[in-house]
Amino acid sequence: MSKNITLRSNHLEISNKIKKILIDKFRSIGYSTSENITKDTELVISIGGDGSFLKTARELNFPEIPFFCVNTGHLGFFAEILPDEKEIDFFIESYLKGDYDINELPLLEAEIKMENKSRVEYAINELVVRGNRSRTAHLNLFVNGNYMETFSGDGLILSTSTGSTAYNYSAGGSIVDNRLKILQITPISPISTNAFRSFTSSIILPVDNTEISINPEYKSDKSILIVVDGEETKYTDVEKIQMRNTNKKVKLIRLSDYEFWDRVYMKFLKTYDYKLNEIKFK
Ligand code: NAP
Ligand code: MN
Repeated sequence: MSKNITLRSNHLEISNKIKKILIDKFRSIGYSTSENITKDTELVISIGGDGSFLKTARELNFPEIPFFCVNTGHLGFFAEILPDEKEIDFFIESYLKGDYDINELPLLEAEIKMENKSRVEYAINELVVRGNRSRTAHLNLFVNGNYMETFSGDGLILSTSTGSTAYNYSAGGSIVDNRLKILQITPISPISTNAFRSFTSSIILPVDNTEISINPEYKSDKSILIVVDGEETKYTDVEKIQMRNTNKKVKLIRLSDYEFWDRVYMKFLKTYDYKLNEIKFK
């Protein structure tokens, strides 16, 4: 039985180059490689930015197999290495020796209920509910069956700990230690007037034993936008968006020196040259 590695890259030339190098290196040590998961796949390598990893995990239907990310994108919060030969060799050596940790990213599961049908979505970062065509969204929020607020504004971000450093952070939400299994609800441009009163900051709830749901309130047409990890879908007649507890997760390989708060410092505060194309690959 041959061991297999699945490799996915974005369209960048550097990503394709790295993919080819990884394919050659893994094949030379007895692995087969593929574009899609096979019964022998033990690892998925995503080459690109964070967006590429989110897209790949979604396209492959959130498999149990661990992922490893090589950053040829901009931020690369999920990535462990840059497209550099020494780093690639270090990764392969660590991988073969089992010298790494697995970071489990719990997924957010949401059931989108319409009149006659429903659809289940999974997110690594977040699920965003927004008004269609830039209209004000009016969203009734319920926690454990209790009415909390009718949010009015651009939309609500329902973010996992993993997503706390993404859109959630730009909208004023808090960065959450990735060991905490929580859901952060962050408003996007909330209206807070005598006419509409909404929370103006995030609220943070434990995922376990908490029922969270959103009922959109429609003023004109019955459309809303739901954006899952950056992928937008327009819906009509959604009656309820119900967050559900799930044990589903995505596994991410972290090399042994990984530390969440160090990563936050490196990616948010440290001055850094992002012009990756200037990194020469010999
Ligand atoms: P994108 O517009 O390229 O993403 C925006 C930025 O978010 C990129 O720099 C991306 O990293 C980074 N990012 C993604 N997940 C992250 C995480 N968990 N922690 C820290 N940064 C993260 O779109 P994309 O690459 O397809 O990614 C989709 C994500 O973009 C969504 O899940 C959402 O969180 C985020 N987003 C942010 C805003 C905003 O901040 N105003 C608006 C829309 C969407 P890379 O450069 O490595 O791709
Ligand atoms: Mn991106």
